[in-house]
Amino acid sequence: EDMLLMTPGPTMVPEEVKKVAGMQPFHHRTEEFYQLFSKLNENLKKIFQTKNEVITLTSSGTGGMEAAVANLFSAGDKVLVASIGYFGERFYDIARAYGLDAEIYDFGWGNAVDLDILEDKLKKGNYKALLVTHNETSTGVTNNIENIAKIANRYNVPVIVDAVSSLGGIPLKMDEWGIDAVITCSQKCLMSPPGLSFIALSDRAWEMTKTSNLPKYYFDLRKAREGVLKPKPDTPATPAVSTIMAVAKATDMLLEKGLDNVYKKQSEYGKKVRKYVKELGLDLLPSEEVASNLITAIKVPERYKASDIINYMKEKHRVLITGGQGPLKGKIIRIGHMGYLTDEMLDKALYALKDAISSL
Ligand code: PMP
Repeated sequence: EDMLLMTPGPTMVPEEVKKVAGMQPFHHRTEEFYQLFSKLNENLKKIFQTKNEVITLTSSGTGGMEAAVANLFSAGDKVLVASIGYFGERFYDIARAYGLDAEIYDFGWGNAVDLDILEDKLKKGNYKALLVTHNETSTGVTNNIENIAKIANRYNVPVIVDAVSSLGGIPLKMDEWGIDAVITCSQKCLMSPPGLSFIALSDRAWEMTKTSNLPKYYFDLRKAREGVLKPKPDTPATPAVSTIMAVAKATDMLLEKGLDNVYKKQSEYGKKVRKYVKELGLDLLPSEEVASNLITAIKVPERYKASDIINYMKEKHRVLITGGQGPLKGKIIRIGHMGYLTDEMLDKALYALKDAISSL
């Protein structure tokens, strides 16, 4: 039996998707591929909830974040990174690597973005854009992106959202909420193997790409969009065809189930995990109001070692969870419950946690 991945990605891949991913890949300059890629692009627009093209890049989620920075900005542009953890810091690191005048504001690991503080900063800062994480995977916190975007739009600041661990799992209405860039990847809520990132831009963001002077070649979004807009859509270079086949299938499944039903199920899973964890006598890192329905971060009590719990669950039950990142290393454990998950899988994971807590 496969290891049950209760991690923040790669997540479990449904049988139907694994079958497709294991097929002989299409050649990427053939009718079969054009049809597959059209289908994928159509599905992605529905999941991103945008009228604009979604660009497929052969990279992990980080590559999509890098593409956003490289295509939207120029050296010296002043941007604000509203960080609530490890992946907020990654966005800042990428912005710095590209020579942006990036400022990071740390709202605290375990907190969400404080809207009043954010408004105050945006009012005074004269920023070219706001970079923010939707679901902070390192702390199990979900930001209220709808309200964050509302505030940013009040001050005419474009909003760039890392939705790597959230898109397709919790609501994110790109156009309706006025978001300028949304980035995600294949191996989390989209129930597929790693290998692809996806990025969509607003009209305002596509305008920004015209003046961006940062170096880019493989991650040139304007060039990639030309491919997507062809009657027989393609990519500038050889894409991860097997992963495209997988995501086309997985997104079909998601849309068949209905996004609202998926969101509802995810929120039930989130509540169930938090209730179970509290009943075991454990504390959550974030407060209930900001806790993610896709990943749960649990404080490790003094009498345990995080790595013992993780190893016990892995060896005794073949359930893989993860520990903390950065300053939370050794202090928390994280149970991912995003993407493909059944009640049976979740029950197995929760039982493994209970067994670890009582046996160790
Ligand atoms: N942002 C967030 C919120 C993530 O959860 C992750 C992956 N854990 C990343 C970015 C980086 O994605 P990848 O590992 O696919 O590059």
